[in-house]
Parts: sequence; structure tokens; C-alpha cells
Amino acid sequence: DLDARLSINSNDEIGSLAEAINNLAEDLQRYRDTRQEFFANISHELRTPITYLEGYSKVVKDRLYDTDEERDQYLDIIHQESLRLQHLVNDLFELAKMEEGKISLSSEWIDLTEITDNAVRKIQLKANDKGLQLNTHISRSIPLIYGDGLRTEQVLINLLENAVRYTEKGEINVYLQEEPTYVYIAVEDTGIGIPEDELPLIFERFYRVEKSRSRLHGGTGLGLSIAKRLLELQGGEMLVTSTIGIGTRFEIRFMRDEQGEHT
Ligand code: ADP
Repeated sequence: DLDARLSINSNDEIGSLAEAINNLAEDLQRYRDTRQEFFANISHELRTPITYLEGYSKVVKDRLYDTDEERDQYLDIIHQESLRLQHLVNDLFELAKMEEGKISLSSEWIDLTEITDNAVRKIQLKANDKGLQLNTHISRSIPLIYGDGLRTEQVLINLLENAVRYTEKGEINVYLQEEPTYVYIAVEDTGIGIPEDELPLIFERFYRVEKSRSRLHGGTGLGLSIAKRLLELQGGEMLVTSTIGIGTRFEIRFMRDEQGEHT
């Protein structure tokens, strides 16, 4: 701990060595705090659905309900919470692999037009169910980029799911465009928005702007931190801008590769 700071007041090499050791000790302490917080978060996230599962399965098992409808509601909660647990465990596994550097990304020429089309098609139904319009603006002849196609689609699906999740009315616009030095995919929604001071935090593990709202929607708070890292591992980046009550815009960028032929 920090009480163990070395206090040596000299300007020579021993002094700078002491300084280096102190900095190292501080880094270690910070690392321990983060780890502790991380495990506290995991326990909390796991405990909540398990509490529901335990409670509602007991209600059904002991027939502590009055009507079939009531029983079905409890079974529905049990189902939803099982899905949440599954989602959480998958995310945690993905995160663990990344932290250990054990995730292997494939590197090949990928066609972002195809990836955008696929991702949008997969999310279309969810958007329709909520009465949201989902529009694409794909520019012609986007150059191929070097990366992992499946992971990139996964990242995009994540952004689209969030856009649907945090938008109550209006539309979601998806852009695939090229700039002189990079190619980008942007997902713009007309949703609740994110407060400016919280924007940098949303990429942190388990961070949610509004805890209860995100939970209600089945979110784990892990999606964006995973997505951002997956992109960075491929040399891409993720940017976000948002206005409360107006909407949010996420952009993923890939550097253009000189050899990337046009599709
Ligand atoms: P979650 O699984 O909770 O959605 P994410 O890591 O995907 O976790 O997102 C972190 C938080 O960022 C969310 O809980 C939500 O508060 C906020 N967020 C993400 N995308 C949007 C969006 N399109 N509009 C508004 N808020 C968003």
C-alpha cells in the first residue's frame, strides 16, 4: 500500500530509483483497486439474475400464484434472466480472452458493404418491432480494408442493438462512407442521448448511464468496452458524439489501406 512509499531525499541515482519504485507501487495499487472493483462488479451482475431465478422458480415450484397468467409472467422472468446470464457469461469469456491476449483475429481483405448489409438485415426486425425506421446510406465503391470480418460485424451489430435499445421513436441511420485517409461506418439514432460528462465512461467495463434502464433492456454494460477493444486490435477506432434528448452517433473508423482495391 501507499504507506510503503520510500522517502529518500536525494537528487542522485538512488533518489530517482526510489521515485521509480514509488511510481511502480502506485501503479500496482491502482491495478489492485481496478481488479477488486472488477470482481465486485461481476459478482453483483451475476447475483442479480440468480436472485430472480431462485425466487421466481420457487414461486412456480410451490405453486404460489393465483392464475395461469401470473405463472406465465414468472416463467417469462425466469426465461429473460436466463438469457441475461448467458449473455453475461459470453461477454465475460470474450473479455477474459482479450485481457490475456488470447483472442485471435483473422486478417483478411474485408468488404464493409457486405458487412453493413448483413448487420442491418439482422437488426431490421428489432427496429420494426419498435416502430423505428432503419435507413442505410452506403456510398458506392468503398475500398476493401484489412481486418476481421466477423468481429467487425459483431461490433456493428452491437452499435445497432444499442441504437434500437436506447431509442423510443424516430429513426436509425447507418452510413458507410469514405474519406481520403479512412473509411467509416456511422450509426446515428434519435434516442435518449448520453450526458456529455459520461461520454468517456461508456467504454468502461460495466458502465451504464442509467443503471435501471439498461438493465431493463437486457444490457450488461460490457458491450461497448468489448467492441472498442475489438476494433482497436484491428487498428480501427471508435468515436461517439451525443446530445441529450436528440440522439447519439457512433462512428467506427478504419484506416484506408493503399492496396485496398475498390469493390
Ligand atoms: P449495455 O449492455 O448496458 O447497453 P454497453 O457497453 O453497450 O452496455 O453501453 C454502455 C452504456 O452506454 C449503456 O448502458 C447506455 O447507458 C449507454 N449507451 C450505449 N449506446 C447508447 C445509445 N445509442 N444511446 C444512448 N445511450 C447509449
